[in-house]
Amino acid sequence: MITRAQQRQAQEQAARLMEAAGIRLSSGEREAIAVADFGLGRLETEGAQILTFVDTDRIAAKVIALLPGQTLPEHWHRPVGSDPGKEETLRVIAGPLYLYTPGPDTLREGRIPPGKEQVYSVRHERVMRLGDQVTLAPGDVHWFQAGPTGAVLYSFSTTARDILDGFTDPDIVRQTVIADEPRGETP
Ligand code: ZN
Repeated sequence: MITRAQQRQAQEQAARLMEAAGIRLSSGEREAIAVADFGLGRLETEGAQILTFVDTDRIAAKVIALLPGQTLPEHWHRPVGSDPGKEETLRVIAGPLYLYTPGPDTLREGRIPPGKEQVYSVRHERVMRLGDQVTLAPGDVHWFQAGPTGAVLYSFSTTARDILDGFTDPDIVRQTVIADEPRGETP
């Protein structure tokens, strides 16, 4: 759960990162940036800010901004009916971004979120910078983390059904709950 104030603050920070990376946003889009805490309630450590440009039954295009050191938790895109699952291309426009996939443990630059050693199982590290991109096949387990200055990346994919993604961390709930401030605290 995050509060409205946290949501607004994260939207502002994300918009600043996106604009610094050269993405121009309309005022409506700034407010449309989705802030996800994955139900963990520690947004600055594990979370993401996502602006969806298009999301149809066939394709999706999004821009993701991560705050400095913020981690998008380990997940994979599940098959749905006859669809093998989301194929996703990540293209970094402001890095560094540390991407982790299966393979030999080469984790050096990033770090496992505190207390979460069990649920970050893939640790093959790729340090991605402006213009670096990777295409992940359906079912490929992955997670990524912003470097010390935050990160901005595009996600181009086949149809996205984020709500059905698999997460290694059993505490994760994909739908973020936004709590209104208690009455009396708002002027
Ligand atoms: Zn993904």
